[in-house]
Amino acid sequence: MTPVVTRFAPSPTGHLHVGGARTALFCWAYARGHGGRFLLRIEDTDQKRSSEDAARGILEDLAWLGIHWDEGPTWVPRDSVAGLDAPPIGGDHRHVGPFFQARRLDIYNRHLDRMIEADLAYPAFDTAEELDALRREAAARKATFRYRRAPDYDRDACLRRYKAGEACVVRFRMPDEPVRVTDAVLGEIDFTEEHLDDFVLRKADGFPTYHLAVVVDDELMGVTHVLRGQEHLNNTPRHVALQRALGFRTPVYAHMPLIFNPDGSKMSKRDKDKAIRRAMPAAADTQASVMAATSLSPSDLATWLADKTRQLPTDALLSIARALDLSLPEIDVEDFRRSGYLPETLCNYLALLGWNPGLKNADGTDLERFDMAFLAEHFSLERIGRSNAKFDRDKLLAFNQAAIAALDPDDFEQRWREWCDRYDPDLPAILGDRFALAARAVQPRIRTLGQGREPIAFALIAEDAVRYDEKAVEKHLRKGDPTGLAVLRDFLPTLESLADFTPEAIDAAAKAFCESRSLGMGRLAQPLRVALTGSTVSPGLGETLGLIGRGGAARRIRRCLDSC
Ligand code: GLU
Repeated sequence: MTPVVTRFAPSPTGHLHVGGARTALFCWAYARGHGGRFLLRIEDTDQKRSSEDAARGILEDLAWLGIHWDEGPTWVPRDSVAGLDAPPIGGDHRHVGPFFQARRLDIYNRHLDRMIEADLAYPAFDTAEELDALRREAAARKATFRYRRAPDYDRDACLRRYKAGEACVVRFRMPDEPVRVTDAVLGEIDFTEEHLDDFVLRKADGFPTYHLAVVVDDELMGVTHVLRGQEHLNNTPRHVALQRALGFRTPVYAHMPLIFNPDGSKMSKRDKDKAIRRAMPAAADTQASVMAATSLSPSDLATWLADKTRQLPTDALLSIARALDLSLPEIDVEDFRRSGYLPETLCNYLALLGWNPGLKNADGTDLERFDMAFLAEHFSLERIGRSNAKFDRDKLLAFNQAAIAALDPDDFEQRWREWCDRYDPDLPAILGDRFALAARAVQPRIRTLGQGREPIAFALIAEDAVRYDEKAVEKHLRKGDPTGLAVLRDFLPTLESLADFTPEAIDAAAKAFCESRSLGMGRLAQPLRVALTGSTVSPGLGETLGLIGRGGAARRIRRCLDSC
């Protein structure tokens, strides 16, 4: 039996989208579950839109997700000075590289020459005007434009011009008969003539089109299973026809459902631009002040506002969102990382977009929480769904919250620190040696690592910045016998004389204090919270006090006694 080989083949034209990440994950899982190999190939034949920076970003995102490839480019961290031309990884199978298509032009040309010779492909010299005229003529007939070789095509003359080096494209001679695609998810689909044309194999710039490169590489790299999104389904008959012409095998195809937002729109990179457009104030001067946060000129802004298909660079989107105090919908893997999702949780959730293990928990509910090892073991093409998948953000948040809460505390502290180092380096700097304690207070109270500031916000502000919630003051400080203020005054010396200012020692002292005065814990805890944080919501008492520190706590209590 031929060993299973899958591949993820992103085009490095931008960030890795969750849809791409799901494809990579399924390819990885299928290869792992079948003792096969998972390849990573960078499809950078679109020279205008591809960039090395985007390729690096994709490698980094995959590595972060834990989707490790057996063969492919060597990952170098994004901030490293090393280029991407390090020898590829891949043990015994290195011979199938290089894994950047732009470095494989001679390979494509070899196959193309063979096809031209056999008249399976042919040079075409149409000018842009001629192609436009053909398009207009098809539109007048209300037909979709399909390029076909003209009956009077003069092959000898064209080959002479081709050999003389005249600029041209090379097109595939699409056979006339319909093409049947057998898909492991969607079954058999017949593509008739009207879907098929003599598509371009090599562009005038000398680079192959996606169709040629993908077919040649899948063959030479021994790919047995092509798993990809349904957006590629219409390309598949082209690929199958090309494989036949070249005498290649046809791999198993499995097209996965598209991913939609809960409102029924397609989950797209443009959603971030859409969110900003919606929140953008109408007045020109306010717009200008928002845009001041970016390096965009007024004319860039006007063009972007006028054309809904345009996208702003990520940096600009983030600065505007910050200026508008808006949180952008996460679309790319990097967005989820920035928001503070755990990679294993994101993978778990992505695996459920269009697939499920079909197993139950002991309580009869669907089994939905699993790790990568489980996915590799259970993933099967048979259980990939046909209908669109819905991206349910609340569900992902619930997964993430549960996963954060379940982490070993030391592990949580380390991951939160890593997250902060990358996205919020001020926070560890402000917290200093209180970071470990902050982690302990934060872990049970957040849904994403990015929410870490919220539960400890009181510890990050100056003493005189505490704003007291009037209702809480009334209820917890001014009422009761003794009043909260009196309890605070009474407790202050105990607090100041504590030998050990750890959460445990503080909690024990608070408990002993209340018992000695026959007070319920709430009679001390709530006034303390109001005095220290301004409100009654805060982590445990010991943690709250510990984070503020002995001196700070005493000063906050005194300030409250003086002003409330
Ligand atoms: N390069 C293509 C893309 O990024 C994927 C090609 C394929 O999976 O066949 O969409």
